[in-house]
Amino acid sequence: MLDNYDIEVKLLAVTPDAEKLIEQAGRLCWNSQDKTGTTPDRIPKWLQIGHESMIEHACATFYIRASRVLTHELVRHRLASYSQRSQRYVKESVPRYIEPAEIREQDKETHELFEKAMADCWKAYEHLLARGIKPEAARYVLPGACETKIICTWNFREIRHIIKLRASRQALPEMRALASEIRKIMKELAPQVFYDL
Ligand SMILES: Cc1cc2nc3c(=O)[nH]c(=O)nc-3n(C[C@H](O)[C@H](O)[C@H](O)COP(=O)(O)OP(=O)(O)OC[C@H]3O[C@@H](n4cnc5c(N)ncnc54)[C@H](O)[C@@H]3O)c2cc1C
Repeated sequence: MLDNYDIEVKLLAVTPDAEKLIEQAGRLCWNSQDKTGTTPDRIPKWLQIGHESMIEHACATFYIRASRVLTHELVRHRLASYSQRSQRYVKESVPRYIEPAEIREQDKETHELFEKAMADCWKAYEHLLARGIKPEAARYVLPGACETKIICTWNFREIRHIIKLRASRQALPEMRALASEIRKIMKELAPQVFYDL
């Protein structure tokens, strides 16, 4: 559960010694390799002047379980690699969906309205499959709330960009919950790179 959303994010992989690699790349630009490790805020100082390319050398890979509404927005971030559970080749026989906190917390009747809509979608999906319709066509009746799983790889520069856009108040609340968790993970992993977020 992240910020009242039943979603999940797990770090699967990250560039080893990421900040060391970033400093190595940055110091190469300035021919100051001999000073490696002497300035604790070296990376923040580069970022402050807009010298950011060196943080592209480090990447992180995340497993994310969230709604299709969320992943539809997430994959707009293009400097990335994505692998997402297929609704063409995998049947969504078990109704799994993400209920927005705003709906669940409004009142019982509103929550039940949402639950009924989900049940109706899955009932129609099962009826279509039973009539021989392939999952790739039957899925058209499934909701945006449908749970999905995706593995995402981004470099650190793109992760900074995603956090800035997606952990903000303007972002979709489910996305904000996800981006805030990614921010927490990245601040622990690479405090110099994510110091200001
Ligand atoms: C609050 C909010 C509301 C939104 N509403 C809508 C909406 O109503 N409709 C809609 O369609 N989208 C909407 N979006 C999506 C938004 O327009 C972007 O597509 C999305 O945030 C991806 O970010 P990005 O374009 O910065 O790209 P990324 O793919 O994350 O790229 C990172 C950066 O690389 C550079 N870059 C990447 N590709 C190019 C390129 N082809 N040319 C030049 N520079 C490039 C840009 O500087 C870009 O910021 C919304 C996003 C947010 C955060």
